[in-house]
Amino acid sequence: MRDLRDIKKGLFFQLRHVVRNNWVCKSRMASLQSNERLPAAQLDILQEQLLRSTLESARRRIPAYRALRLPERNLRRHLQELPIISKNDLLTRRREFYPVPGLERAWSIKGMTSGTTGTPLKILRSLDSVIWENAFLQRHWAWSGYKPGMRRATLRGDAIAPVEQTSPPFWFFNRADNQLLLSSRHLRPPYIDQIISRIRAFRPHLLQAYPSTAFELASYVQRKGERLDIPFVYTGSEMLYPYQREVISSALNTRIMDFYGMAERVAFATECEYGRYHVNSEYSYVEIVDDTGQATRDEGYVVGTTFHNHTMPLVRYRLSDRSRWLDGACPCGRTYPLIEPVAGKFEDVVLGSAGHPISPSIVTFAFKGLQHIEKSQVAQVGDGVWEIRVVSGPGFTAEDRAALVNNIHAMVDPGLAVRIVERADIPRTASGKYRWVINEWKSNPYGEINR
Ligand SMILES: [Zn+2]
Repeated sequence: MRDLRDIKKGLFFQLRHVVRNNWVCKSRMASLQSNERLPAAQLDILQEQLLRSTLESARRRIPAYRALRLPERNLRRHLQELPIISKNDLLTRRREFYPVPGLERAWSIKGMTSGTTGTPLKILRSLDSVIWENAFLQRHWAWSGYKPGMRRATLRGDAIAPVEQTSPPFWFFNRADNQLLLSSRHLRPPYIDQIISRIRAFRPHLLQAYPSTAFELASYVQRKGERLDIPFVYTGSEMLYPYQREVISSALNTRIMDFYGMAERVAFATECEYGRYHVNSEYSYVEIVDDTGQATRDEGYVVGTTFHNHTMPLVRYRLSDRSRWLDGACPCGRTYPLIEPVAGKFEDVVLGSAGHPISPSIVTFAFKGLQHIEKSQVAQVGDGVWEIRVVSGPGFTAEDRAALVNNIHAMVDPGLAVRIVERADIPRTASGKYRWVINEWKSNPYGEINR
């Protein structure tokens, strides 16, 4: 059984390698590398070209932009006149913001996000945009001296070994990319020791992880009074909390290179070797706006326009993340603008049945494919007890409830006691932030850190 599974996985990664790491990707990566120190005026010209091409696609494919006029110059200023849209618009005004019928094909690539509100959203992607995404990721890896073929370990949400598996391997070696994929669902005793030995033997140049999975690994290594040596840890897809950064840097004896991105692909900011976040100018057009939608140099919402997904361009798409522009140049010499890291709360970490921290990104998998949930919140309310609050949409049934509980047990932790509670609404915090994952257990040992 396991042999067959491994053969299938091998083929999958081989195919993925051919699709993502082909010569197109390599030449794009090279062009991105030659852009990163261009004078600002040249980056502006590049952005105007990319913006024009994405708005032309929007006009052709997205009904909401059919009447769009594109002036000969100053497109970026013209963009300010277009409405800011959000995830809610994509969910409730599908006819306007999805490609005109007939352009969506059965073989269209679909990206799913459950986002921080837990409401699933489907984005149609072009194959071209998938290759671009990989080129941008690899360019960031190159900032650490990584070259294709170097050893890379991955500890993200990939389903590497079934959660009920109790004997190794809790990893899979992807020969095509010299990549060791580790099962983040086994980051708990006794399996975690075997994972650590495997990482030691593999000696990766870099580890790709969620902040929370790297933190789980690092805090375990630290508690045991040991150390792992991994030159670079690339974190992303979740807020990286300063406390996590500290523990990861010291226990893994590493330099963290964090990045900020999202499934909608409207913004991509990458941390350089000087710890600054650079907004990649040729990835998308990023704005920061205040509550009224006006550009601001203060803290505001991140708004982005995609450049590379011509199947379903997103124009002025507002995220719930808040940040601000930073002035000045970076000592690394890259000319991409600087941004403050997006803020969040660490005390909301939830724990599994063995008392180990669980990555919110892994919890999001349990919600994928569930269609009738408008809002959700995952709360730890006791030792190994989770309460999942849902604001149900039309069509929510006992089957959806059961599927959610089953998903939590299958994908997150089989030992958790889970109860589903329907709510009329789930309020935001006083500062307007949505805490999708929240810890209300009074004896939460991690609560201490933040008091
Ligand atoms: Zn820099």
